[in-house]
Amino acid sequence: MFVKSLTIAASIASALAIKEAACPSSTNTELGEAVSGETFQTSTISTLGSGCCAYLAKSPIGNRLITPSDGSYTDRAAMQWSLAARLTPRCIILPQSANEVSQAITALVEANEHQTCQFAVRSGGHTCWPGAASIDYGVMLDLGYLNSTTYHKENSTASILPGARWGDVYDTLLPQGALAVGGRDPTVGVGGFLLGGGNSFYAAAKGYACDNVANFQVVLANGSLIDANAHTNSDLFQVLKGGSSNVGIVVRYDVYTFQAENLWGGIVTYPFSTATQQIEALVDFGDNLKNDPNSSAITFFTSTNLVNATSIINVYDYTKPVVRPAIFDKFLAIPGNLSDSTRIANLSNMVAELEQPDGFRDTFLTLTFASDVDILKKIVATHEELYSTLQAAKPKGNWTINTLFQPIPALFGQHGAAAGGNVIALDRFTDNLMLYQLYLAWQGADQDDLFNGKGRQAIKDIKAASVANHTDNPFIYLNYADRSQEPLEGYGDASVAKIKAASAKYDPHGVFQTLMPGGFKISLVDSDSNSTYPAQAAGLGNSPKVQVEVAASA
Ligand SMILES: Cc1cc2nc3c(=O)[nH]c(=O)nc-3n(C[C@H](O)[C@H](O)[C@H](O)COP(=O)(O)OP(=O)(O)OC[C@H]3O[C@@H](n4cnc5c(N)ncnc54)[C@H](O)[C@@H]3O)c2cc1C
Repeated sequence: MFVKSLTIAASIASALAIKEAACPSSTNTELGEAVSGETFQTSTISTLGSGCCAYLAKSPIGNRLITPSDGSYTDRAAMQWSLAARLTPRCIILPQSANEVSQAITALVEANEHQTCQFAVRSGGHTCWPGAASIDYGVMLDLGYLNSTTYHKENSTASILPGARWGDVYDTLLPQGALAVGGRDPTVGVGGFLLGGGNSFYAAAKGYACDNVANFQVVLANGSLIDANAHTNSDLFQVLKGGSSNVGIVVRYDVYTFQAENLWGGIVTYPFSTATQQIEALVDFGDNLKNDPNSSAITFFTSTNLVNATSIINVYDYTKPVVRPAIFDKFLAIPGNLSDSTRIANLSNMVAELEQPDGFRDTFLTLTFASDVDILKKIVATHEELYSTLQAAKPKGNWTINTLFQPIPALFGQHGAAAGGNVIALDRFTDNLMLYQLYLAWQGADQDDLFNGKGRQAIKDIKAASVANHTDNPFIYLNYADRSQEPLEGYGDASVAKIKAASAKYDPHGVFQTLMPGGFKISLVDSDSNSTYPAQAAGLGNSPKVQVEVAASA
């Protein structure tokens, strides 16, 4: 039973309170140090050997290199938010400036002339799937020490480095009376968030966070440092807004800021018996956003092994200090809430309430639909079936399944186009849409197949249902996509062509396609024997085979 003072952290985390340590998970036999309850196999990679990392150690970036024998390695290797995403790099480079990122890329490309030298790039490490921002045996380029936020009052912009977390960005800007469009969980990283879009409380008013970037400073594969903005390298500017890790490493984001104001909002929880009313209120809310774009709402259906019923959690936010604005009337008229934390507060306070617990194995999956009551009801029915199936399977440890809905009004695409365009290209669609996210959290690597398998099957079933009732939409939000999904394809042919063109122009040897296999790769979209990327055609790429080859050579 929920109590009135329940927050989202408490309500979701209540089911997840017992951490991985309570549930032995790893099947590794040669185990190294324990990290947050998870284990790393470090014993076989404790020396530099003669491969890639040894080469890097002798390069100009060598003084920023750590290996498993360094004390800080374990903490850095464990910076991935989801335990499922934590892999074991052979060495980690921690650059402290844009110039050092350039030195690192140059050294990695040179080293690769002698042996395969694959690397991963990590900013905040919040992608759930292994290999997106992590790597086994290869090199981790960890941008975590590039984490400052500098406010420029004279032109209302802020320069934010990729390893910053959104909570720190707000804490820096707020005392100076400013804010930027960013994440709703304080620990989410700036780097990946802005390259994948970035949904926020401000999205209906200002578009995705990437549409609020004035300039990207980027290190290209040849080590050069360039700007990408509306006037300089404008093709790259557009592609970086949604194109993720395909063209270069962003080492600084110059974003527009705006005057800080307190928000009204918080979390209101309800019993499952109100499900139909919640769905109707949410669809209505999404359709009304054009009349009051200062608003945002997320509706969660959340089920855990600890409480034998699904609960509903609504996150309301209004970006002005106005109590219970009229756009929320339909939601607020639903009787029987179990808790209500709505209040007037600043953004740091609002996002602190939404912090999600780490220390679990997690999967995000996503789809988009027309904003339609029937498909949402079908998704909730699928959620309930999934819940029953998992209860019957009796997984070990604690687990949670969350179905989240977030309106995507046509406004998002209009803001993107007005800001010079992005490759997400939501302006293709004139109707209001609804984003669906399935978020599963569990314990124990031996249960990965169970949860990943059930999650992927649910997505398949729901997609089929949406095709059948004509509510399907091709958009797959990259920042919530599982590795089994194809978000770049979902951007449409015109955007795929733009990303491919930028990749060929700015990275002609395909360094970010082959040496950096993590993330969603444009070379894997419609790839054929005419691939622009020689290493890919030769069989390198995002495949397990490469990991084995790297293991042997790194
Ligand atoms: C708890 C939680 C809350 C979230 N809340 C939100 C939310 O409110 N709104 C929303 O839209 N999304 C949200 N997300 C999703 C989030 O946007 C993505 O996980 C995003 O990738 C996080 O950015 P990161 O820097 O942590 O990414 P990382 O995992 O570090 O990187 C993501 C990808 O981008 C690449 N990359 C990272 N930095 C760079 C760089 N500087 N240059 C080139 N490539 C780079 C990586 O190699 C990787 O492929 C949330 C995720 C979690 C786990």
